[in-house]
Amino acid sequence: MTELTTHPFQPAGDDADDAFHEECGVFGVWNAPDAAALTALGLHALQHRGQEASGIVSLGEKGFRSHKGLGLVGDIFGDARVMAMLPGRAAVGHNRYATAGETALRNVQPLYADFAFGGFAVAHNGNLTNALALRHSLVRRGCLFQSSTDSEVFVHLIAISLYATVLDRLIDALKQVDGAYSLVALHDGALIGVRDPLGVRPLVLGRLGGEGKSWVLASETCALDIVGAEFVRDVEPGEIVIIDHDGVRSVKPFAHTSSRFCIFEYVYFARPDSVVEGTPVYETRKRIGLELARESGVDADVVVPVPDSGVPSAMGYATEAGIPFELGIIRNHYVGRTFIEPTDTIRHLGVKLKHSANRAMLQGKRVILVDDSIVRGTTSKKIVEMVRQAGAKEVHMRISSPPTTHSCFYGIDTPERDKLLAAKHDVAEMARIIGADSLAFISLDGLYRALGRKGRDAKDPGYCDACFTGDYAIPLTDLEGHAERRPALLALNGV
Ligand code: SF4
Repeated sequence: MTELTTHPFQPAGDDADDAFHEECGVFGVWNAPDAAALTALGLHALQHRGQEASGIVSLGEKGFRSHKGLGLVGDIFGDARVMAMLPGRAAVGHNRYATAGETALRNVQPLYADFAFGGFAVAHNGNLTNALALRHSLVRRGCLFQSSTDSEVFVHLIAISLYATVLDRLIDALKQVDGAYSLVALHDGALIGVRDPLGVRPLVLGRLGGEGKSWVLASETCALDIVGAEFVRDVEPGEIVIIDHDGVRSVKPFAHTSSRFCIFEYVYFARPDSVVEGTPVYETRKRIGLELARESGVDADVVVPVPDSGVPSAMGYATEAGIPFELGIIRNHYVGRTFIEPTDTIRHLGVKLKHSANRAMLQGKRVILVDDSIVRGTTSKKIVEMVRQAGAKEVHMRISSPPTTHSCFYGIDTPERDKLLAAKHDVAEMARIIGADSLAFISLDGLYRALGRKGRDAKDPGYCDACFTGDYAIPLTDLEGHAERRPALLALNGV
């Protein structure tokens, strides 16, 4: 889910926060008491995928009910009076990440519409790469858009479809969109889950209660755990799962193609206690650290993670290198995003609000810092500086992803390419800029080895890794469609 703005070609977001952000998490429940409350719990477990807005649409005896708000799930749905307004045994919900100023309530999902066939609610994780072209065409045909999100094109494509059934209309709509999408949708007769043909974004199916008649769809397994649902399986790339009173059935309307699951989910986005595509994220991150240590070992006294996402990789690194693992940086979990800080002086202090040096673990030591990625480099620079000020003798930075040289167009908030440090500088220059004694990234092959492959197979990578390679597997139609801006846009985005 990404917003279509007057400058739609940019990857979503251009804030000063120096990290990648997941754009959304989705959750759905079918045939369970207190479906909305379960959905609120599921969204809480998926809070890391979007912190700026949430919504739930429930389906009860009196029809659909909706509640949406800006802020964290607990703030929006923590009030019993709100939950009482969302009765029913089925619900869908959505967490949203968006850039400041564009977080309007009208863009908060799930989107809901009344069609001739009844009510329909849909929540989307991902980003459509031809949404602008579709939107222009739909507007010319008289469609009135209520929001500025790309996800709304699903609603209009379903509305104007000439097919009779909801499922056929949905398939008709899906065949017209390009991009990354995991959807949960709800109508009078069914809960529906969909993954795009390449399966870029995750979606899992779970079962509640054991009797086999209550079902859950969620972006990650950690959201199944919180509601006590048993993991059944991943929804497959290109699969539509229809859950109704007859159980679960599956439709695969797309020609088979190799999948391209987002490899960055393993590095950073997914919660470490989730199992993604059959692979535990925590274990994978430790193996990434192990590969990183094999590739770029250096003499040092301690291995220190940049918390939180650097922790499992640093553990893997320390084990492989035989160097003590220490929590030399402590994270304050009660601080919001740095970019809300109003003045330059305060903004400069931002990293210290989030991270503090544990001086006793750093003083006089040669330190290996392990982090998940370098985006703009501003945070890395501040952290290296902080560790030196705490008395470290040497600071060696190790990164558990390859250099991020390209923007993501498939649902992750990244800066434009010219703001990515690795797009403009080689590793030696980057080390100098962030002030580290040495800097190394895991290689692309090393990352694939951590996932159980021999290395990256260029003909069939099996994962999306476009932000490291520029190999965009899904057409960037909106980018391509504007000839007058094409040279600058292609240069900007490295395609
Ligand atoms: Fe994930 Fe990067 Fe591909 Fe985006 S470009 S989907 S972040 S691997």
